[in-house]
Amino acid sequence: MSTSPPPLPTPEHLTRAARDDLAALGFPAPAWLPALTGPGPADVAEVAIVGAGQSGLIAAAALKWDGLTDIRIFDGAAPGAEGPWTTFARMQTLRSPKTQVGSEFNVPNLSVRRWYESRHGAQAWADLPAIPRTEWKAYLDWYAAVFDLPVRHGSEVLDVAPEGALVALTVRREGRIERHLARTVVLATGLDGAGAWRVPTFVSDALPRDRYDHSNGPIDFERLRGARIGILGHGASAFDNAITALRTGAASVDLCFRRPRLPRINPHRALENAALMTHYSDLADETRWRIARFFRRQDQPPPLRTFETALAQPGLRLRPATPWLGLRERDGAIEVDTPAGPLVFDHLILATGMAVDLAARPELATLHDKVALWGERFRPAPEEADERLASLPYLDRHFAFLPRTADDAWVARVFAFNVSSIVSHGPHSTSISGHRHALPRLVRGVERRLLLDAEGGLLPFLADYAVPELHVADDFEARLSGCAAPQVQA
Ligand SMILES: Cc1cc2nc3c(=O)[nH]c(=O)nc-3n(C[C@H](O)[C@H](O)[C@H](O)COP(=O)(O)OP(=O)(O)OC[C@H]3O[C@@H](n4cnc5c(N)ncnc54)[C@H](O)[C@@H]3O)c2cc1C
Repeated sequence: MSTSPPPLPTPEHLTRAARDDLAALGFPAPAWLPALTGPGPADVAEVAIVGAGQSGLIAAAALKWDGLTDIRIFDGAAPGAEGPWTTFARMQTLRSPKTQVGSEFNVPNLSVRRWYESRHGAQAWADLPAIPRTEWKAYLDWYAAVFDLPVRHGSEVLDVAPEGALVALTVRREGRIERHLARTVVLATGLDGAGAWRVPTFVSDALPRDRYDHSNGPIDFERLRGARIGILGHGASAFDNAITALRTGAASVDLCFRRPRLPRINPHRALENAALMTHYSDLADETRWRIARFFRRQDQPPPLRTFETALAQPGLRLRPATPWLGLRERDGAIEVDTPAGPLVFDHLILATGMAVDLAARPELATLHDKVALWGERFRPAPEEADERLASLPYLDRHFAFLPRTADDAWVARVFAFNVSSIVSHGPHSTSISGHRHALPRLVRGVERRLLLDAEGGLLPFLADYAVPELHVADDFEARLSGCAAPQVQA
């Protein structure tokens, strides 16, 4: 006898079903963190999270599930503009395979699949080659609503500094400066969280600012209608920007890169397995360093669909073995020197990734020179030296910073769940495929730090615990004593 599958929930029903699932699984756990004791400020967050992209949200959900009750999430962006998804990400679909997700904590009604099916049907999900970018963002917004996560938008964190046994955050919100105190801080600040998007100095020194853009920034493509565009780089963003420029009416795009041919293999996929992503931080320093160097040299190819879409655009020229050797403005255009002779453009797009410069980050103003770096903790063989990797923080196995000197022990209350962690924890902690495995390490570390900092309050916490389990009638004590000592009739 064949049975038809149960009907799919509507979007409204899915929200209720997801919340019912959470309740069935004991969400949230009872509060467990002892209050701060002694004199001191009263308004102190248990965890302050900087960044409400996918990492900040999922971390907040997990910490809330585990019984933390005062989690504050700050994001400089407006609602809907968190992360890259609706701002500078220009691909149609995610690069991650649609099955490699982990934000749902094994609860089907929290999954992006169920979310998508509730809106578009089961067949639409089955037919999807990859998750559409804007749908992923809409799913994250829904996810934050299901968990009722308190995001403070338009709140740019300008500094993170010690304040006794606490951490103080300086926040700019609507032009005003606020101060927030927290017991622990998670930096979920994304792919540029260890510096800034990199514009080579031979470009920024030679050209006025309106003649170039970084691929991961806002670009006014309308202004580039009819323009001859030179793109430097061959990563996925280079192709995404080429497609957008040509579709918006650019005359031509020359996509230039140093390599003689595009990489064909994506070695990142080989790392995306449970064992490596779960235990990465237990690997020897030498292994982690070598893997990080390997990925510096082995780029990944653009996704096949992106590549094919780009090649189908009239006006695209791929130029392998074409590094830019120098450039200048000439006769109103930009002349770029290459080994094959000069190329002439009207505008440049730099798909040149990220520069590591902790001091350039506002939120690291106080912290950047107080944390241990790989260059101080690990000495590679001279032929394996790498200045960029050496300037990344050497994090503990739970993403916490380690202090450079004992005076700055407070930095261990700050956790770098962002690109700073790529040598210590591998390149996939904050990506969609990494959360399932990496997030538990972060959560354990934050909770451990909170517990150890609150150790002195544990006995008073136990003594004050007053949740009755045996509910008895008011006269029960009297009746009980009556039983224990039966009255003797005179
Ligand atoms: C074009 C593009 C495509 C990508 N595609 C994929 C993909 O398909 N799959 C995948 O797994 N990954 C992809 N990535 C990587 C992607 O960036 C991450 O997986 C994802 O965005 C990481 O989430 P996150 O929350 O860690 O960081 P983000 O999503 O970058 O969020 C960081 C947040 O921190 C906020 N913030 C930063 N500094 C401050 C501050 N000082 N004060 C307040 N707020 C601050 C930002 O406003 C931002 O909202 C892509 C990246 C790019 C650039």
